[in-house]
Amino acid sequence: MTHPICSCPECQAMCQRRPCWPTPADADRLITAGYGNQLMLDWWFDHEQNSTIYLLTPAIVGSESGQAPAHPAGPCTFLDANNLCHLHDSGLKPTEGKLALCQNNTPAGLHEDVGRTWDSETGRALIDRWESDPPRGRRRALQEKPARRQERRKNGKGKNQTNP
Ligand code: SF4
Repeated sequence: MTHPICSCPECQAMCQRRPCWPTPADADRLITAGYGNQLMLDWWFDHEQNSTIYLLTPAIVGSESGQAPAHPAGPCTFLDANNLCHLHDSGLKPTEGKLALCQNNTPAGLHEDVGRTWDSETGRALIDRWESDPPRGRRRALQEKPARRQERRKNGKGKNQTNP
């Protein structure tokens, strides 16, 4: 199946607003193809299930290998200099990006349906693998925190400093 090139301003704006979501199988293919460092950990509260679901998605620029910002909005790391999806011709574009359509023609519930594919052993195992080696996502954040504290102490900017 071929998919439209996504070059109209509305399609490009979608990729500028927030990265599309992959299924675990899509994300696994991206990791295997060497794009693991361009993913980020995102999460979503599924009101129907009353649970938080974690997932890997293409990163917002600046969050590569990390976690989605609290307000997860911003351009996708896979946008190229012409504002086109770098993955388009590779067959690696995430399912939501493949199926989303401009002019309000995106299939109803697509975002949530893709998100729910991560509520699975396969999804959780993939996140675990992605976060462990090299440390990414929450694991990277945990490692960075002590390093940042050490750096602040070294620079004399400890919490208890009385002379700023
Ligand atoms: S992966 Fe491609 S289609 Fe999906 S948001 Fe990024 S640029 Fe757009």
